[in-house]
Amino acid sequence: MSNQPVDTAPGGQKSALLRVDGDRLWDSLMVMAKIGATEKGGCCRLALTDLDKQSRDLFVEWCREAGCSIKVDKMGNIFARRPGRDDSLPAVLIGSHLDTQPTGGRFDGVYGVLTGLEVVRALNDNDITTEHPIEAVVWTNEEGSRFPPAMVASGVFGGVFELEYGLSRRDIDGKTMGEELQRIGYAGDEPVGGRELRAYFEAHIEQGPILEDEDITIGVVTDAQGQRWYELTFTGTESHAGPTPMDRRRDALLGAARVVQLVNQIGLENAPLACATVGMLNVYPNSRNVIPGSVFLTIDIRHPDNEVLTRMNDALREGIDSITRQSGLDCALEQIFCYAPVPFARECVEAVRGGAQRLGYSMRDMVAGAGHDACYLAGVAPTSMIFIPCVDGISHNEIEDAKPEWVTAGANVTLQAVLDKAGIGE
Ligand SMILES: [Zn+2]
Repeated sequence: MSNQPVDTAPGGQKSALLRVDGDRLWDSLMVMAKIGATEKGGCCRLALTDLDKQSRDLFVEWCREAGCSIKVDKMGNIFARRPGRDDSLPAVLIGSHLDTQPTGGRFDGVYGVLTGLEVVRALNDNDITTEHPIEAVVWTNEEGSRFPPAMVASGVFGGVFELEYGLSRRDIDGKTMGEELQRIGYAGDEPVGGRELRAYFEAHIEQGPILEDEDITIGVVTDAQGQRWYELTFTGTESHAGPTPMDRRRDALLGAARVVQLVNQIGLENAPLACATVGMLNVYPNSRNVIPGSVFLTIDIRHPDNEVLTRMNDALREGIDSITRQSGLDCALEQIFCYAPVPFARECVEAVRGGAQRLGYSMRDMVAGAGHDACYLAGVAPTSMIFIPCVDGISHNEIEDAKPEWVTAGANVTLQAVLDKAGIGE
């Protein structure tokens, strides 16, 4: 749907037509993308590496130039604060992450961070004082690529993980997050979380194809999907592919193939909001003339409604039981990760929707299919997200791309939503 601009806005006339400087935001994104730039046009800035430090330093420098004060907490999360008229009021936070996957793109995460900065810069340009303070935020190690799990620092902030747990996460070389934060100078003194917040907004590329396919500029993110991850091992009997009659086989791969089919079926039956994936399959001994004796596979199911997700879980377990019985295989099924769906705060969702409407952007409601820092912030602050399209829906890839007009639109909507929650001071 498309909307005509409406000339009323939070704070009245003064903010009605307020916009970010899209060119400045784009330039900042492109300058940041040089840090860890890859040959194929992407970015590699793993958390707490020297390159991550450089990107943090640049963000801090830009925020200081914009008049912000900087605080860093014990998880290395950075808060660049623009004071409010009443600075004792809880802050409105805007942010995301600067770390990337090893073959990451120029927009995932950094777009939300620099949108926070651009909101501050736009308020400065227009000489606007907000009632509540505003903070542009960088969350440490969102990707979890170097230090699993993902979103660990926003998770500590959101009270999902203990501080000690966060600091003791190790990379593949055995270095801990705590040590690496010290090494790059971002082990701050501030307590992690525990303060009242007015709102949290995170602008992000969609990382899927829907907005671009439907030619829609803004995704109003109402919920984040719940996820359940499982590992399954089928054990049968390895035997010779020639002399073993068909009715005497215990073929672990055949059982696995039926599970792949089952998982896909469960996804389709709960479409369009469900996702169900077998992403990894290890066949043993993986030899062309041996009937596979064992297969390891992973299952990932997602849905924004907990009841449906639970039904999908039940259908999965029943289906696997029946496949196991029919095939005569031994089955070990383990749920390794369970993450409940997150409904975002209606007041923040409406602030985003209202902003897009006033600015006349096309929009639709969306569910976040991936994990984001916002999912953990939602536990401690009224939260929502703003999605913009990305080219061909591709992300976590060096060719990840977004058009400048999308980048500008998402930041404009974020600015409106922030003004809605922060208010205009007199
Ligand atoms: Zn991200």
